[in-house]
Amino acid sequence: MSWKNELKNNITTVEELEKSFAMTEEQKKNLEQVINTWPMSISRYYLSLIQKYDSSDPIFRMCIPDEVETDSTSGMLDTSGEKESTREEGLQHKYERTALVLSTQSCAMYCRHCFRKRLVGLSDAEIAANDRKLFQYIGEHPEITNVLISGGDAFLNSNERIENYLRVFTKMPNVKLVRFGTRTPVTFPQRINEDPELQSLIKEYSPKVGVHIVTQFNHPMEITEESVKAVRSLTQNGAVVSNQTVLLRNVNDKPETIEELMRGLTSVGAVPYYVFQCRPVTGVKQQFQVPIRESYRIIEEAKKHLDGLSKRFRYIMSHKTGKIEIFHVAENGDAILKYHQARDPQDIGRVFTHHFNEEDCWLD
Ligand code: SF4
Repeated sequence: MSWKNELKNNITTVEELEKSFAMTEEQKKNLEQVINTWPMSISRYYLSLIQKYDSSDPIFRMCIPDEVETDSTSGMLDTSGEKESTREEGLQHKYERTALVLSTQSCAMYCRHCFRKRLVGLSDAEIAANDRKLFQYIGEHPEITNVLISGGDAFLNSNERIENYLRVFTKMPNVKLVRFGTRTPVTFPQRINEDPELQSLIKEYSPKVGVHIVTQFNHPMEITEESVKAVRSLTQNGAVVSNQTVLLRNVNDKPETIEELMRGLTSVGAVPYYVFQCRPVTGVKQQFQVPIRESYRIIEEAKKHLDGLSKRFRYIMSHKTGKIEIFHVAENGDAILKYHQARDPQDIGRVFTHHFNEEDCWLD
């Protein structure tokens, strides 16, 4: 079966989900209500990773909707100022050197903690409909040295479209590397493991332009035989695989979980790149955010037990003003922060201080 047909088997309704575990009438009603606003789509593979069918299971929490998601009283839908960075339909240019392409609103699974919840499975409004326009923009901006193909999930595009991106960017002298943002190694590894054509594409273009795959493992339970096979297939074909973890309440908010995750990823060749502070997204923040002081303690405790390679990641807040590294948070909440990337290039590298209260989850 092709991966496209396999995806058609995803669980998208309460009736289908009920076949996997028993629910009360009230639970079903609540679930129905949530997915009317924020759709559900779970690959059969990812569902099979659940060990306990309740919210104490990290996999369950990341894929099964929760009624808290319908609370629309707090948070924002565009927490990183993506709208103000948009230059062409589906093309953002926030950081001088990087162009970001919203190539699709589809994903192999709709993560409940998604920061692009406003788009995923819902709307094409911000998606690139015309790749030629964005090629022209990137070609006319020699300061852009790298392109991040994102979405949704970049590997939900057809191989033809992926190849077209690689072919065009390979010919642009300013573009030195192409990144694909995809969670398919984690949520739907069949997309890679069962598609020799995609593997050949990676192999063909890796020597011509830096091909980087940025994925998102959040819990050691996601490191399986299949996901490791997907990561290894990508690296063996010449791509560099990096991982961005999101720190999530009751998913990975324990030092030992982060420790096991980072060590596991390093051992299979997925480079720990960032740990992200969960963004204050409507329908996400109440369920998943961990206060910054607590997150910092978790990460530092994990780092104490990690080797140098496994703690190469930075703890980052992807703020509308830039990517802010949370460098140090003292016991009393006084923090040292640093602009790792910035909307205003003059801010790059700028170090500043801020006091976080115990419950603060974001820099307002
Ligand atoms: S794969 Fe990424 S874009 Fe898609 S739902 Fe998950 S977090 Fe959002």
